[in-house]
Amino acid sequence: MYRGTFAIVDVGAIRKNVAAIKTLLTDDTRLMVTVKANGYGHGALQTARAAIAGGATDFGVASVEEGVCLRKAGIQEPILVLGVTSRPGAQAAAAAGLAVTVTEIWDDLPDGYFHPPLAVHVKSDTGMGRLGLRNGNDLVRLVQWVSARSDMRWQGVFTHLACADGEDYTHVDGQIEKFGAVIDQLRTENLDPPLIHASNSAGTLRNRNWHYGMVRVGISAYGYPPADNFLVPVTLTPALHLYSFITRVETLAPGDTVGYGATFVAQRATRVATLPIGYADGYFRRFSNRAYVIVRGEKAPVIGNVCMDQLMVDVTDLANVQVGDCATLYGRQASADWQASKVLPLPEDDQVRWLSATWSAARTGAVLSLDTLAAVGSTISYEIMCALASRVPRIYVDSFGENFDRANSSSV
Ligand SMILES: *Cc1c(COP(=O)(O)O)cnc(C)c1O
Repeated sequence: MYRGTFAIVDVGAIRKNVAAIKTLLTDDTRLMVTVKANGYGHGALQTARAAIAGGATDFGVASVEEGVCLRKAGIQEPILVLGVTSRPGAQAAAAAGLAVTVTEIWDDLPDGYFHPPLAVHVKSDTGMGRLGLRNGNDLVRLVQWVSARSDMRWQGVFTHLACADGEDYTHVDGQIEKFGAVIDQLRTENLDPPLIHASNSAGTLRNRNWHYGMVRVGISAYGYPPADNFLVPVTLTPALHLYSFITRVETLAPGDTVGYGATFVAQRATRVATLPIGYADGYFRRFSNRAYVIVRGEKAPVIGNVCMDQLMVDVTDLANVQVGDCATLYGRQASADWQASKVLPLPEDDQVRWLSATWSAARTGAVLSLDTLAAVGSTISYEIMCALASRVPRIYVDSFGENFDRANSSSV
C-alpha cells in the first residue's frame, strides 16, 4: 500500500454474526448468506468462507458470473442466483452447478438444453413489485412446466419482503398471507415445494414464523441492522472499517477556500487536513460539507466538495494533528498506535502485519456507524458498503480468532 487508504475486513465478525443469527433458527432451517456485489463490498470469497465457519449452508448472488467466481474458488455449498437469468445464463449456471430463479415458461426450449439438469427456484411476487409471478395460477403452471422437464429440477419457491424492517407490520403481514395462499395452491395441485424461503435479515430477526425452510441474510451477517432503529435480538459486530492517513496539514486564512467550487470559505484561521480518499473510493460526494471523520478520537468535519481521490477535513479544534495521523471514515476508531504512523515507509508485508495486529489488539475503540454516515448522506448502510471501490486495499483480519496472527490476514 503506497497511498495510505485501506479497509479492514474483520472476517471473525462475519463468522460471529452468522453464528449468532443461527441461534435464532431451528436446526433444520437453512441459512443463506447473500454475497452479491462482492459480498456487500467485503469480498465475496472471504465472506463466504467466514460464513461457512459460522454455520451458513447456502449462498445468494445476483448474477451467474458472481456464482461462477465462487465455484471457481472452491465454494461447494448451494448457490442461488437471486436475480433474473437469461437462457444462455441458465445454461452456464447448470454447467457450474448454480441454481437460478425462473419466472417464466421458456416453451420453445428443447428438453435437454440444460446439462447437467438446472436447479430451479421459482419466485412469487407478493408485494415487492420487482420480480416473480403475481398470480398463483401462473406459478402453478410454471412449476408444472419445470417439473415435467428432464433437464430441470424444481428446488424451491420464494418471495421477497419489502417492509420487514419497518415499524408498521401491515405490508409484511399482507405479503406473508399472500405467500401462504400461493403455497397452499401449489400443495392443492400436488406440487409440494422442496424448499420455501422468504426472509431477508429484517424478516429473519423479526419473526420466526417467517423463516420457513431457509432464511436469506445479508446486512446482518456484515454486522449492521437492516435499519438504523431496528431492534436486533442478537449482538452484531460491524465487519467493515475504512481508514486514510493524513497527507497534509495547512492553516488557511479567513477568506481562503477549500475544494472545487470553493464551497467552503474559512471564517477564521482554519487548520485543514487532506486525506487521500475520495468519491472514486466510495466516499460519496454527497458527504461534502456534511459528514465528519474521526481523528485522534474527535470529529473532524468534511469541508469543501469531496474530490475524486482526495478530501479535506477541518482539524482546527483538534490538538496536535499531524501528517501521518490516521482518520477513521467509518467503522471502529483507528488504533491509538496509528497516530503519526510510520506505516507507509514499511514494506507491504510489514504494513499488513502491523496494521492487522494493532487493529485487532485495540478491541475497545468506538464505532463510527455506517448508519450514522448513511443518515448524513440520505442513504442506507448497504449502499456505502457496496460502493467501496476495488482500488481500496482490503486487509483481512480475524479479531475473534483463537490465535490471531499474520497467517489470518492478507491484503488484496
Ligand atoms: C440481498 C437479498 C437478501 C438479503 O437482504 P438483507 O437485507 O441484506 O438481509 C435477501 N433476499 C434477496 C432476494 C436479496 O436480493
